[in-house]
Order: sequence, then structure tokens, then C-alpha cells
Amino acid sequence: IDGIYQGFLRQAQTHPEKPLFHLPEGRTLTYSQVLQSSRRIATKLIGDGVVPGDRVAAQVEKSPEAIALYLATLQVGGVYLPLNTAYTGAEMDYFMSDAAPRVLVCDPSQTAAHVQRGKDGIVVETLGAGGEGTLLAAEQEHAEVAQLSPSDPGAILYTSGTTGRSKGAVLTQGNLAANCASLIQSWEYTEEDVLIHALPIFHIHGLFVAVNMTLVSGASMIWLPKFDPDAVLDAMPRATVLMGVPTFYTRLLSSQRLSAEACAGMRLFVSGSAPLLASDHEAFEARTGHAILERYGMTETGMNTSNPYRDGPRRPGTVGHPLPGVQVRIVDRESQASLPQGEVGIIEVRGDNVFAGYWNMPEKTAEEFREDGFFITGDLGVIDEQGYLSIVGRDKDLVISGGFNIYPKEVEGLIDDHPGVFESAVIGVPHPDLGEGLVAVVVPTGDDAPEETAILRALAGELARFKQPRAVRFVDALPRNVMGKVQKAQLRKQYTDLFS
Ligand code: ATP
Ligand code: MG
Repeated sequence: IDGIYQGFLRQAQTHPEKPLFHLPEGRTLTYSQVLQSSRRIATKLIGDGVVPGDRVAAQVEKSPEAIALYLATLQVGGVYLPLNTAYTGAEMDYFMSDAAPRVLVCDPSQTAAHVQRGKDGIVVETLGAGGEGTLLAAEQEHAEVAQLSPSDPGAILYTSGTTGRSKGAVLTQGNLAANCASLIQSWEYTEEDVLIHALPIFHIHGLFVAVNMTLVSGASMIWLPKFDPDAVLDAMPRATVLMGVPTFYTRLLSSQRLSAEACAGMRLFVSGSAPLLASDHEAFEARTGHAILERYGMTETGMNTSNPYRDGPRRPGTVGHPLPGVQVRIVDRESQASLPQGEVGIIEVRGDNVFAGYWNMPEKTAEEFREDGFFITGDLGVIDEQGYLSIVGRDKDLVISGGFNIYPKEVEGLIDDHPGVFESAVIGVPHPDLGEGLVAVVVPTGDDAPEETAILRALAGELARFKQPRAVRFVDALPRNVMGKVQKAQLRKQYTDLFS
């Protein structure tokens, strides 16, 4: 495919009357209706002075019109910049001054705060969850499509901020198209598919995986404002694919309604954005007969690896093989030498999917690329004999205790196997003798938590002394962001004085 917009346009011309969105209460929006809205929005953007390369920022509720805005931005050659709806005050000021957009589209209720920001020459438009606001005010449809090359920027997406301040990743038209094409091929996604869309649309998963694939292949989406297990189960008989973060699956598993029968018409369940518990993978397969397909990606690269759709087993706890067109290698943390299969190191990737660089951060961009073009993901992983990649954790979460490296996931896996444990997070916090001391933060399954000593005793039989936690703390739930990512930085802060 040449570009996401071009792919969508072709679908809208081939089958204009096909529903793109299935909305609550049986309403639908066809490809041609979405094309019309996006062309009206394009008129507005042009009127606001947007020229190719200008950023169009959107902090809006999830709505079909928000997708029309994304399409209109691509059409006029703008750079789409979606923002988490949770960002407020100082955070928004950072994003606005960092990105310096031409236009900011926000919820009508937010204008007071944002008009202030409009002082910097930013044009403020509004779009509400029901499509109301100034954005769709133009009647005229702008049909001309900007002539762009694959290296032109298509979007700036801010990373989730799990390990520090969010960075703006500049994704080119070519990046978006290449990754979309490999996913469509790998997951055999076609116009026959009906996707349950319950993800947010300011993140790579909900926008560039779920929406791009649908637009380009001419499929349809059952559009849910947010994840709700009952709404997803209600949608399943009319759907074929669900894309979710791991917490979707944890929550579906706690519904009595989840069964093989409920999933009978579904052909694919995808999980990503954070590690899927191997126990959830197994429980889901036992209950429904479906092996969840786990894949691995990040804002900067789109999707890198995926478990097989057809050729081979989907292995719990792994993220599968490189997607077509993506190269993956594991290198030593210190020497940066390539490591053989079976050894843990930093994951590096190269391919048409890999972003152009961090917005406004040339030094940071230079630091994160090797001379031969590989991008340093900051994730640690290992490749097994069958070529499956497993994510061991983030390099920043690696614990160095008494001079030894400890990969939290190894310890977490053993703790999770302990009876009465639902899940755990292992972190390192300052320790007077060891540099960092290992702390296990444990979520019990039921009301009576297992004994700290029982967990430690079990680990003593399985792990070298230096890998055994120095303390166990029980909590009701791990802190997670909206994408289901465990906020280890927050846990480290919380327990920072434990050993002092
Ligand atoms: P920041 O870069 O701002 O610290 P972030 O890395 O969480 O935040 P994203 O780009 O949204 O921002 O997330 C990408 C990261 O999510 C990957 O680098 C990886 O650590 C994690 N991830 C994604 N998919 C998986 C998966 N299937 N298993 C384990 N981790 C995953
Ligand atoms: Mg990251």
C-alpha cells in the first residue's frame, strides 16, 4: 500500500455503502459517510492554515469523527498528534509547547483552558463525543489529496511515559503503511473482518494497529467507547477479531459469560502493549479454545514481532517471531556485541516500520540508533531455538544487586506460580549494602494472602541467593496506566526507603 489515506480512499470508492463503524443502538457509519466527514474536516483544516508538515493535535473523546479528523489530517499532509484525554494543565502545556501544532482540537468543555493556549498562535477547534463542535462546521468537501512521499511525517505519537517523560515519536507515511501491510498479511486480516474496537485511540495500539488495518483492508469495527466485558461479550456474535491489552483478557476471564460458545464466531484474539500473564493465556484457551495471539511493539516502531497466526503454536509468555520486513537482534548490554540464541540482552530492531526520530530531540534520537540503523528498544529479551522472542523486561527495570544482574520477570514468574498469588512486580530499591535490594510486590488471588515466609521459602529452592527478594509487600492491585502497563517507577518511589 502507498499510504494509509490512499488505502482508505480506495476502500471508500470500492464499497462506499459498506459500514465502517457499527455504533451503539444499531447505528452505522459507512465508508462514504466517513469520507464525507473527513473531507469537511479537511476544508476546516485548510481554512485554519494547515499546510503539509503542520501538526494537528487532538485531545478528544473516542468518536468516529476523531477518526475522520485523523484521515483529514493525512489527506492534507498534516502530522496527526493525538493526546491522552487524561492530560491536563502543565502536561498539556508541555505537549503544546513541544509540538507547536497549527491546530488543537479539544472537547467543547475544555475550550476555556485551551483558548488560553490559543494565544501562542494555535487555532483551537472543538469536537465532542457526539460529533458536535466547530470541527465539522464546514459544509464544503475538500477532495484534493496532498502529494507526499513515504519519508514525510504522518504522525507524532507520544510514548506512554512509563520510564520517564513522554517522547514524541515521528512516524512517517512509509512507517505507517509498511507496518499496516505486514500486520494485514500476518494476521490474514480482510474486508470480511469485524473488529471489536474497545481501545483508546490516542495510542499506537488502538490507532495504528486496529484502525489502520481496518481502514486499509475495508473491514468494519464495532466501536465501543471503552472496554467493558459485557459490551465485548455482547459484540462477539457479530465480530471476528478482538485486539486488546492484557487487562482485557484478565477481566473477560472473570466474567461467567466467557465460554467457547460465546467466542464461537471469533477467529482471532490479539494481546499487546504489556506482558500477558502466561496463566491468563492458558486459562483463556482452556475456557474458549482460542489461543490468544501475543505480539510486541512500541510507539517508536509499531509492531515488531508476533506469534504465528497459522504456521506454528502461539506460545504463552513469548511474543513470537519478527514480522515481515522487520529485523530483530539481541545485543549485550555492555559490549553491544550480537548475542547468540538463548542469551538475554537488549532488543534492537530495524525495518521500514522504525520511526524517523524523536521530535525536537536530535541527541536522544542519535543515542538510540546504532550506526547500522538498528533502533535500541530499551527492552531486554531472549530468542529461543524456535526463533520465538520473549521479553524479559525493560533495561531500566533491571535490578543490579550486589553487582549481579537480576531480571525481574524470572522472579515474578516463580512468585506467580505460588498458590494464592495472582500476580507480582519485582523491583529494586536503594539498599545500603547491595546497591539495590529486591522487593516483591504481590497481589494475592483471594482474601487471605499467602505468608511472606512461605513465598520466600519456595523461592529459596528455585533461585540463587542473590535473586531472592529481601522483602515482600502485599497490595490489592498493581498500579497500571490506561494501557495496562505496570508503573514500576511509581512502585520504586513508594518503596524507596524500605531498606534505609
Ligand atoms: P516510555 O517509552 O515513555 O517509557 P512506554 O515504553 O511504555 O513508555 P509505549 O511505546 O506505549 O511506551 O510502550 C512500548 C513498550 O511496551 C515496549 O517497549 C515494551 O516494554 C512494552 N510492550 C509492548 N508489548 C509488549 C508485550 N507483548 N510484552 C511485554 N511488553 C510489551
Ligand atoms: Mg518506551
